[in-house]
Amino acid sequence: MPESLYRALFEGAADAMLLYDLKNGTILAANERASEMYGFPEEELVGKEIGDLSLYNWVEERVENLAFNEGGHFDSVHLRADGTRITVHLSESIVEHEGERAVLCIARDVTERRRAEVRLQKAEKRYRSLVEHVPAVVYADASDEVSSTLYMSPYIEKMLGFSPEEWMGDGDLFLKVLHPDDRERVLTESIQTNVTGKPFKMEYRLIAKDGRVIWVRDEAVLVQDGNGGRWQGVMMDITNLKELEEQLERRTFHDSLTGLPNRALLSDRLEHALSRRHRLEETVGVLFLDLDNFKVINDALGRGGGDELLVAVARRLRSCLRTEDTVARVGDDEFAILLEDISGVRDAVRVAENIERQLREPFEVSGSRTFVTASVGVAMNSSDGIQPEELLHDASAAMFRAKHKAKGSYEVFDLSMHARVAERLKLETDLRQAIEKGEMRVHYQPKVLLPTGPKSAPRVVGVEALIRWEHPERGLILPENFIPLAEETDLIVPIDNWVLREACRQAREWQEEHQGLEGSLFISVNLSPRQFRRPDLTRMVSEALRDSGLDPHALVLEITETAVMEDIEAAVCTLQQLRDLGVRLSVDDFGTGYSSLSYLKHLPVDFLKIDRSFVNGLDKDSTDLAIVSSTISLAHALGLESVAEGVETAEQLERLRALGCDMAQGFYFAEPLSNGKAGAVLEAGLNGRGIAERAR
Ligand code: C2E
Ligand code: MG
Ligand code: MG
Repeated sequence: MPESLYRALFEGAADAMLLYDLKNGTILAANERASEMYGFPEEELVGKEIGDLSLYNWVEERVENLAFNEGGHFDSVHLRADGTRITVHLSESIVEHEGERAVLCIARDVTERRRAEVRLQKAEKRYRSLVEHVPAVVYADASDEVSSTLYMSPYIEKMLGFSPEEWMGDGDLFLKVLHPDDRERVLTESIQTNVTGKPFKMEYRLIAKDGRVIWVRDEAVLVQDGNGGRWQGVMMDITNLKELEEQLERRTFHDSLTGLPNRALLSDRLEHALSRRHRLEETVGVLFLDLDNFKVINDALGRGGGDELLVAVARRLRSCLRTEDTVARVGDDEFAILLEDISGVRDAVRVAENIERQLREPFEVSGSRTFVTASVGVAMNSSDGIQPEELLHDASAAMFRAKHKAKGSYEVFDLSMHARVAERLKLETDLRQAIEKGEMRVHYQPKVLLPTGPKSAPRVVGVEALIRWEHPERGLILPENFIPLAEETDLIVPIDNWVLREACRQAREWQEEHQGLEGSLFISVNLSPRQFRRPDLTRMVSEALRDSGLDPHALVLEITETAVMEDIEAAVCTLQQLRDLGVRLSVDDFGTGYSSLSYLKHLPVDFLKIDRSFVNGLDKDSTDLAIVSSTISLAHALGLESVAEGVETAEQLERLRALGCDMAQGFYFAEPLSNGKAGAVLEAGLNGRGIAERAR
């Protein structure tokens, strides 16, 4: 090759070329690219020592990197004319130059490439550290033609107890640790991913080396490479989360006391059962169970004891049933049972009978034996498309019937009950709006003071406020037809409060109209047991008095004997608070409850009101006569006034007068009257006419 060709190759090369003396490193020649790369003009490069270009000690570097005299390849850092550094890849070879040994050094600027490499290394290190330290497992399919294996990051050992090496060594390990119940689900889903390429996202269970069940959330993708897709994914331990989730679910769908499902869960299952039975023609039965007299038992046992009993009842109910049946606690002392897939009503009745029988065995509560019975209603999904709520309603309607029939009995729902249930629901809806719509009325029945002397005439001294409902379609409804419903639904509270306020206002108005009534007329207002138990009762009463301006002494509150005796200690306390307001108190329907006479003398009350049923038999039944007589004596012995209600005949009145009864009311004198008529009677009484005259 001619010299000129060498020169052309040398000058035209894309890489820098330097020729230097092997012995002392003096640069003998440099090409154009070299002067461009180092930033020195060619004539300056020539004559420099090669070591001047290097950041390191040139001789040492060479000894270290090259077999001396033989040339080779290595990287070094060189300095440019302006002091900046470049990374260069050097390829050196020994050549003959003018009879001496020289080195031909080809230098390539690899600064950019090196930087990229370093960046990559750092990134990889970062990722590796991330993969190895995140509290999650990063995994990748590491299979080759020979064997299938899975790379699992080290966290897998913390999570499942199998080390990454064990995973690499056993291609089937995943299938071995996959929870059997989740196997099908997971495999189906992964086939989906393999087929469609859609990301895989699932929560499932794995079994750890020590047998613990671990919930994981697994998210993976198929990464395409030359030979199809490879799985890469992240797996997180969500066992704690799952536990929390389950706890929350338990709280939402279970009763905390008994651990039984609650109403929400029952409705849910019922709905499922009903829709499934639609398809499979199965029969679904619901039992509604209410403990008899639970309030009394609860008071006797104390709260803790009551709870203990409920838990024991729940357990016993559970034990009477098949595992597929649901027993739920749906109220304080109410349970509902869902019987799925039974052959008919006979099966349901058999279960009800069995429950009654099982409950008859005594319960051990707080170390003593307690007996409890339950009323049970049975309903079946007789009609298609019946809703869960309707079925529950049917069962509870039947339960109410059972309760009326006899404690500890059951009753099967029939269609005639259906009509009643519907009617009841309608009534309840109407009742909710009755006050707002101004449909409630208060009627007033005069109360008469019975004179002691034979010649003096009875005198109206008070009135009893009795509620009426003027229903737009049904006309006037008497309290017995809506008060029990109001009691059950708690609507009684606003109703009673309304009557109280209205009666106080009316009484005050009469007093202001007729000076003679001031200080003498009193008004009686009935309090429902529920109202009586309310902690804000005294506040309601004092507000009614304050707002009406009525003297507290002019207000008498009537509380039934049963309500007082239900919880005698609490009653005494409430009665005393009411008395402290200055109002007077009356025990209504006396004789119908089970008064403990020894308690009676501790009751801070003013009147005993003899129940209508005894007054009724006064002129024909000697037992009634005896009861009325002793009640009047009892009242007097306790320093109370006696009041007879339901006086209908002159004979009854005569007997009462003879027995020394203090006051009376009844149709014989007057029926409950509208406020206008009652006002007129009061005015007439003041003038010595009207009712007082009729009553002789
Ligand atoms: P109660 O407090 O024992 O009221 C007396 C009931 O006997 C009234 O029935 C009255 O109309 C009726 N009565 C009065 N004289 C005679 C008579 O000579 N013969 C007969 N057969 N009955 C007579 P009413 O008004 O139907 O009230 C029934 C019950 O409803 C009341 O019994 C009371 O317990 C309750 N009640 C009435 N108004 C209210 C109220 O505003 N709040 C609450 N919580 N209960 C009320
Ligand atoms: Mg009354
Ligand atoms: Mg009464």
